[in-house]
Amino acid sequence: SGKWYRAMAILKEFEEKCGTPILKLKQVADAMDVEMHAGLASEGGSKLKMLISYVDNLPSGHEKGIFYALDLGGTNFRVIRVKLGGREKGVAHQEFDEVSIPPHLMTGSSEALFDFIAEALAKFIDSEPEAFHPPPGRQRELGFTFSFPVRQTSIASGTLIRWTKGFNIEDVVGQDVVGELTKSLEKIGIDMRVSALVNDTIGTLAGGRFHNPDVVAAVILGTGTNAAYVERAQAIPKWHGPLPKSGEMVINTEWGNYRSSHLPLTEYDDHLDEESLNPGEQVFEKLISGMYLGEIVRRVLLKMAEEAEFFGDTVPAKLKQPFILRTPDVSAMHHDTSPDLKVVGNTLKDVLEVSNTSLKTRKIVVEVCDIVVTRGARLSAAGILGILKKIGRDTVKVGEKQKTVIALDGGLFEHYTKFRSCLESTMNELLGDEVAETIVIEHSNDGSGIGAALLAASHSQYL
Ligand code: ADP
Ligand code: MG
Repeated sequence: SGKWYRAMAILKEFEEKCGTPILKLKQVADAMDVEMHAGLASEGGSKLKMLISYVDNLPSGHEKGIFYALDLGGTNFRVIRVKLGGREKGVAHQEFDEVSIPPHLMTGSSEALFDFIAEALAKFIDSEPEAFHPPPGRQRELGFTFSFPVRQTSIASGTLIRWTKGFNIEDVVGQDVVGELTKSLEKIGIDMRVSALVNDTIGTLAGGRFHNPDVVAAVILGTGTNAAYVERAQAIPKWHGPLPKSGEMVINTEWGNYRSSHLPLTEYDDHLDEESLNPGEQVFEKLISGMYLGEIVRRVLLKMAEEAEFFGDTVPAKLKQPFILRTPDVSAMHHDTSPDLKVVGNTLKDVLEVSNTSLKTRKIVVEVCDIVVTRGARLSAAGILGILKKIGRDTVKVGEKQKTVIALDGGLFEHYTKFRSCLESTMNELLGDEVAETIVIEHSNDGSGIGAALLAASHSQYL
């Protein structure tokens, strides 16, 4: 029928605009490499902020003692305690509490957010067995993983540049987030020193390196996306401080904010961006990360409903509601292996209140999911190639046996199997067999939290 034909036309056009042939991905990677150079050359030199982390020594594996971490990243935050036992025992013990952040706190006041966090930390400490109490006169030490763009002023201080991922608390922007947290800790009488302020990518890098010395970069694919890597200090023209002894400096790329004319942007992406909390920003992130994949799918389905009566003669009211379709829903539909696509049918019913969908309709919904997620996964691979190019690990010299390990973490990478396998196969496609053999993508489970505790240890005041 005419309607079905129109729906197919919308789908085909969307698919074409989302295309990511290898040549395009290589252009994306090359442009990323160029932007990385520009961002390192001068402050504000690029959309890629290439933030200096002040981490010039990653954990060696010898760290010892009890350390804490707070991981504030998006949907949830975690309070973590680790016991480090040096080279032999590694992370001898770990425990955590996960707390979901009430949505009203994401757009409320600074004080309310940090008080909430401090209270969760207090609860965690109060229920701690005697064995974990610090000896008299010794302060507890904490690594704070704060996964938003921060301009570091030292290893343990930094000001928030802007919020992302649905957070928008104006009075924190421009403030030292460690100062804000410390105020709330003091208010309820917690004696704890924040020894390291890091980003989740840097935490993941530190956690990865603790276990494997070949780890040189970390990528987060969760609610948002970002990457960090180890740069030669000499290759950072905008760094005017003393050259670190290690000769290295960890750079937080903030690649979520990358944009390039080579990115396959569609009208749906443009509209999503315009209506977002941060229009014009985080363009790469809006193509890739868990916060947005479901929303892109929703927008395509809405257009098909409005212009081709895809779900019948009325447009389902729920489908008009931004962010109602979440990436885990997309994942569930995309992985549906039942012959009648039962999971797709149920998701459409439960989330969008569309019942009695035909198999034909369900198949198209899966195709939309596949197009959106394939594009995101392939662009992530291109981003990783950009970093490998920047550090000269995208080629192998004859006879060289170098290994390059990239630590990956985040709920999207962890739980979305098709996203992950597409990312991995695209990496191989981009690198070719010979180079691909030298590159390992490793899931660094909860590196971000543990990594912050590890960095608190390597920056302890008692060393
Ligand atoms: P963050 O620390 O940024 O909040 P996480 O690494 O915890 O993010 O990942 C959470 C995100 O991972 C969610 O926003 C969601 O998009 C994605 N995610 C979680 N579970 C799944 C799933 N089963 N399938 C696909 N994506 C998922
Ligand atoms: Mg996280």
